[in-house]
Amino acid sequence: MTARRRAMLGEADVWALLERAGKRGPLMAPVKRGRNSFAFEWVEDPGAVALRYVRTVLPPKRAMFPEREAFLRFRRPPGAGAEAVVSEEPYVLFGVHPCDLAAINQLDWAMGRRHEVVDPNYVARRGAATIVGMECLPDEYCFCPSVGTCDTREGADLFLTPVGSGYLAEVLTGKGRELLDGRVSGREASSEEVGEAEAWSETKRRMTSCQVDAEMGELADLLDSRYESQVWEETALRCYSCGTCTIVCPTCFCYDVEDRLDLTLMSGTREREYDSCQYPDFALVAGPHNFREERSDRVRHRWFRKFVRLLREYGKPFCVGCGRCTQSCTAGIGLTSVLNAVIAEARESAA
Ligand code: SF4
Ligand code: SF4
Repeated sequence: MTARRRAMLGEADVWALLERAGKRGPLMAPVKRGRNSFAFEWVEDPGAVALRYVRTVLPPKRAMFPEREAFLRFRRPPGAGAEAVVSEEPYVLFGVHPCDLAAINQLDWAMGRRHEVVDPNYVARRGAATIVGMECLPDEYCFCPSVGTCDTREGADLFLTPVGSGYLAEVLTGKGRELLDGRVSGREASSEEVGEAEAWSETKRRMTSCQVDAEMGELADLLDSRYESQVWEETALRCYSCGTCTIVCPTCFCYDVEDRLDLTLMSGTREREYDSCQYPDFALVAGPHNFREERSDRVRHRWFRKFVRLLREYGKPFCVGCGRCTQSCTAGIGLTSVLNAVIAEARESAA
């Protein structure tokens, strides 16, 4: 098949696509891990890929920003040499839902365009990716319509929407075209099939039960007005500072750096791993001084970071409505419940 902008693939074609992707190089895709639990993993067997899932525990950002990675190899004493560790090996990231595509776009900004100095490891891994997006249906934790991410296609090279017993494939970039071209059978989608794919957007909106009770344009000012809200204190009384909410978040990008020496103590690696603004020592600096010592300060910081500071800088909330933090919170704290409580307080005090 010569890849067209919108082609219909049978399910067998999608498996053929996965086989082809797996033969070309590393393939990361969702796989089933528990009764209702999925994970984005590097897969050896494309047959293990889950075509339908609601969300994974860890987001697909781990393909380009892993939980732990070495980014420098060095020798001692100082001056004996060091080499950067940067992987540019091409890979396919399959099955990324629209909210997670939006999160990757946010990370592209944060790691690649926000500052003059870019993150070379992230940028290299991101550039090496061919991303296949996949349409999804929400559960009770999703609120993508509130934050405007449920129709995201940007960031994907190819996007698949289930239609009938097959999939409508939108070819979005040259990489997506190359993944399909000539190797996967298929035919041009009819206008009815295109219409059916487009109807997913409305279905998702109808099915989403969770929401933010404010327009995104007013959110930063509403929160700003409740900086001293009791909601932060009340939430802090329940929070364990475990950091789970940030570790599972597709838009969080804070990390800690550690040097690891080998047993000879003459060489080692510099590594980074995910950090969390909810950990008590996250804001501990020399002195010692901890500028967010109180748990309520850290709790407020998380909401302010996503819905005030980065919203103003990026132009959109730094949250894509995936629901991972709420589903995974060890204390049962809901992101939108806290947000809506503060919004209600702000409206009440302004009335
Ligand atoms: S803050 Fe929560 S809902 Fe928003 S993107 Fe992060 S994990 Fe998803
Ligand atoms: S997952 Fe829940 S308990 Fe843990 S730090 Fe986040 S809000 Fe607190």
